[in-house]
Amino acid sequence: MDKDVAGVLIDEARIRRRITTLAGEIAEHYSDRERGLTIVPVLSGSIVFLADLIRQLPVKMRMGLVHVSSYRGETTTPRDPRLIASALPDLRNQDVLIVDDILDTGGTLRLVQRSVGEAGPRSLRTVVLLRKPRRRDPDVAADFVGFDIENVFVVGYGLDYNGWYRNLPYIAVLTPDAGGPTDGPCG
Ligand code: 5GP
Ligand code: MG
Repeated sequence: MDKDVAGVLIDEARIRRRITTLAGEIAEHYSDRERGLTIVPVLSGSIVFLADLIRQLPVKMRMGLVHVSSYRGETTTPRDPRLIASALPDLRNQDVLIVDDILDTGGTLRLVQRSVGEAGPRSLRTVVLLRKPRRRDPDVAADFVGFDIENVFVVGYGLDYNGWYRNLPYIAVLTPDAGGPTDGPCG
C-alpha cells in the first residue's frame, strides 16, 4: 500500500458487489432497453466507476462528456466549480443519466444538472458512487447512490489527491501526513 494511504475504506470486493446491485436498480428505470440512454460522466473522477458500471447495464447507450473542475482549499471548502469542457450529443427528448464520483456540497452536480437540463432531455437522473453527509444545496440530489460515507477525504477508484491515486482499486483514506486536499484542480 502507498505510504500516503492510511487505510482502505471500501475494498474491491465490496465495490464490485455494490455496483452489481446498483446497476440492477438503475436498469429497472430503463426497461425499454432499445430506446437508448445517454450516459454523461463527469470527468475525471468518475471514470473507473463509469467503466465498471456501464458494463453491467444491459441497455443500449451512448456517451457524452463533461469536465468540471473545482478548486478545493485547505479547509476542504470547495470554491465554485467550473465547466471546463463538454462534448455532448443532442440531448433533446433523450433519457440522460449523469455519472459522478462524489456528492459533497452539491456544487458540481448543480452545475452539471442545470447545464444538461437546459438541453431539454426527456428524463434526467444522476448516479454517484459516494455521498457525503455535508450538503449545502437542498435542491441537488442523486437518484442512485453507491455508498454513503463520512466526511473524510478519499482517494482511489478514480478519485485523486492532487491528480494522484486514481488507479488504486479500492477507496482509501489518506494519512494526515499526506496533507489532505490543497489548492489545485480537482475532479
Ligand atoms: P461538490 O461539488 O459536491 O462539493 O464536490 C464534488 C466534487 O468534489 C467531486 O466530484 C469530487 O471531484 C470532489 N470531491 C469531493 N469530495 C472528495 C473526496 O473526498 N476525495 C476526492 N478525491 N474528491 C472529492
Ligand atoms: Mg468530480
